[in-house]
Amino acid sequence: MNQDKLLNLVSQKQIKNFLVEFLETLNKDEESSIIDLKKHLCAKYNLPLMQNSQILWLIKKNFPEKFNKKINDKLKSRLSRTGSGVTPIAVMPKPFPCPGRCTYCPQGENAPKSYTGFEPATMRAIRSGYDAKNQVQTRLMQYEALGQPNQKCELIIMGGTFLSVPLDYQYQFVKECYDAFNGKVSKNLEQAKKINQTAKHRVIGLTIETRPDWCKEEHINRMLEFGATRVELGVQSLDDKVLRKVQRGHGQKEIIKATALLKDSAFKVCYHFMPGLYSSRKKDISMLKKLFSDENYKPDMLKIYPCLVIPNTKLYEEYKKGAFEPIDTLEAVQRIAQATKYFPPWVRVMRMQRDIPANKIAAGVKAGNLHQLVDKWLKEHNQKCRCIRCREIFSIYRNNKQINSEFDFDLVVRSYKASTGKEYFISYEDKKNDLLAGFIRLRIPANPFREEIDADSALIRELHVYGSEAEIGKISNDSIQHKGLGKTLLAKAEEIALKTKKTKLLIISGVGAREYYKKFGYSLKGPYMFKNIC
Ligand code: SF4
Ligand SMILES: [Zn+2]
Repeated sequence: MNQDKLLNLVSQKQIKNFLVEFLETLNKDEESSIIDLKKHLCAKYNLPLMQNSQILWLIKKNFPEKFNKKINDKLKSRLSRTGSGVTPIAVMPKPFPCPGRCTYCPQGENAPKSYTGFEPATMRAIRSGYDAKNQVQTRLMQYEALGQPNQKCELIIMGGTFLSVPLDYQYQFVKECYDAFNGKVSKNLEQAKKINQTAKHRVIGLTIETRPDWCKEEHINRMLEFGATRVELGVQSLDDKVLRKVQRGHGQKEIIKATALLKDSAFKVCYHFMPGLYSSRKKDISMLKKLFSDENYKPDMLKIYPCLVIPNTKLYEEYKKGAFEPIDTLEAVQRIAQATKYFPPWVRVMRMQRDIPANKIAAGVKAGNLHQLVDKWLKEHNQKCRCIRCREIFSIYRNNKQINSEFDFDLVVRSYKASTGKEYFISYEDKKNDLLAGFIRLRIPANPFREEIDADSALIRELHVYGSEAEIGKISNDSIQHKGLGKTLLAKAEEIALKTKKTKLLIISGVGAREYYKKFGYSLKGPYMFKNIC
């Protein structure tokens, strides 16, 4: 780890401000989760997420008088381990007009639609002149300087509606991202993807944000061509009257259609949902319930962003006239916390609250640690969220979880109907401690349109193992150590697919993960990894 290199990349002022607030919060609230605090403050001060050891080093260097045993013990514990092993790299294309006219959506100067220009990711993009290569390279260098692994990366393209910008720009932007990971310039996108399969920094997942009405067959084909694996859909409300009122430009029909097309093409689907959008507490809770009981929806992941009033939007005018009142932090905590009982064990609640700085929000939830507040509410009310995030194995550290007995992991299979197909959520779980070490999503598709997927095909939409096997082994007993979790989960999925009379398995895979699947006999077919399993 080269600490001096880190200091060259970020200003002393940023680091000092971070440290002052970090130490103050830690001294005030001993219960606060280190990982949430780090995430919140690193984002606030535009720093990459740092490891505990780096923060300790910086405290000793900058504020030796504030360094004490309590701080040392707290940071030396393994609270911050996420174990995901995947480095997120978020990039933004340059600002283009968005086909949407959503009344709550901000548009900052020189910022893509829906960003104020002051979010950490937007500020990085602006500093890079929205250059794709520069954004990726800078981020990789920052992780390198911080001594964080950056071999397995998840590329996230955010801002506006990327699929609606000029086509040439889309292809060039994605190609340049791969070029940056590869450290060399390719002739075209196909070559860039090929090089990335064995590059030092591999793109093992690619996420694109879009609108449901910009997620038709042609868009899905293009996203597959880009190497995308996950799509984030702006859903916001399950009430069409509300969607009309805020001028979303689409309704439930488009949401339901996009969800089905995505799942039948093997994509992972993440919804954005907006509590407080002309909605009562009762209605928000009932919509969050419906998301997981109505088979037309059932997203794999969820981001909950309470409605914010931001200056220079139509909603701001409504707010000033007294025609709209957003929910505050306390109300948002109540609504979300009370809805968690409807979250199934196969969904991952990714985040709550956007990255918009509090001083850019005219009214609404201003707390940057909403997720942490919801976790706290649940703890105080003796309730639990059973989503993936709250049960993944490294939540032991993040949430200070109590372990009641020896670890005992076993395969668990859950099935449910979704978008007229059938889903199998196969996971490796310790039931007594309610922990999850990895999972795979197998789908029997309903109406696929891709030529690679026929009536004999089943799909793998996601395979996720938390941490390396060795890391998990360190905290578990022999029951999961050395077994090869990914291999076990894949074998179980193949077995179930065969039982349902499917003879072909297709996996959606980031280009950087293709080599992994080759080890199990899969080969490339179109954008998918494919194997005959009969
Ligand atoms: S679609 Fe998204 S980016 Fe476009 S106006 Fe609506 S909220 Fe903003
Ligand atoms: Zn949860």
